[in-house]
Amino acid sequence: MAFELPDLPYAHDALEPHIDARTMEIHHGKHHNAYTTNLNNAIEGTDLADSSIEDILAGISGHSPAIRNNGGGFYNHRLFWEIMGPDAGGAPAGDLGAAIDSAFGSFEEFKNKFATAAATRFGSGWAWLVATGDGLVVTSSPNQDNPLMDISEVKGTPILGIDVWEHAYYLNYQNRRPDYVSAFWNVINWDAVAEKYAASV
Ligand code: MN
Repeated sequence: MAFELPDLPYAHDALEPHIDARTMEIHHGKHHNAYTTNLNNAIEGTDLADSSIEDILAGISGHSPAIRNNGGGFYNHRLFWEIMGPDAGGAPAGDLGAAIDSAFGSFEEFKNKFATAAATRFGSGWAWLVATGDGLVVTSSPNQDNPLMDISEVKGTPILGIDVWEHAYYLNYQNRRPDYVSAFWNVINWDAVAEKYAASV
């Protein structure tokens, strides 16, 4: 049973002007596709071939760098497409909104903390909003690591993430990562994030 590249749940140009269509085409069709293919190649013929991606990541310290990098890449991008969408943005409501207020003081304080994590992650990586057993925290990780991995400093369920690899923004924003992070707020599908939060608690 091989992992499959998920379809984008919207058109390539659906996130414009915040994320351009060409970036989405390359990011999904080339980068995510390559992580998926390389993950399948790395687990082929091993006892991981029938495992869930979550189980593979939870035991990542025992697996090869190829499985770590491509398993993370497969999972992280799938989540990334799911938590974005057209006609999105705004602020979270309900239980998720309350949990954010409880953890960070306010939505604005959360945004500041998340944007700082995204801006200060050196090189390639991700910034995350993570549901731990004790509430919500913001963290970041290098490369394709994530908080589901047993090697992660902060462990929990990622419910929102931003890809800060240059391939995620360079065509439209060049070196201006903070502008890309600012634009990201306009494409967050908070209903999807709230679903992930509800499933995590
Ligand atoms: Mn990426």
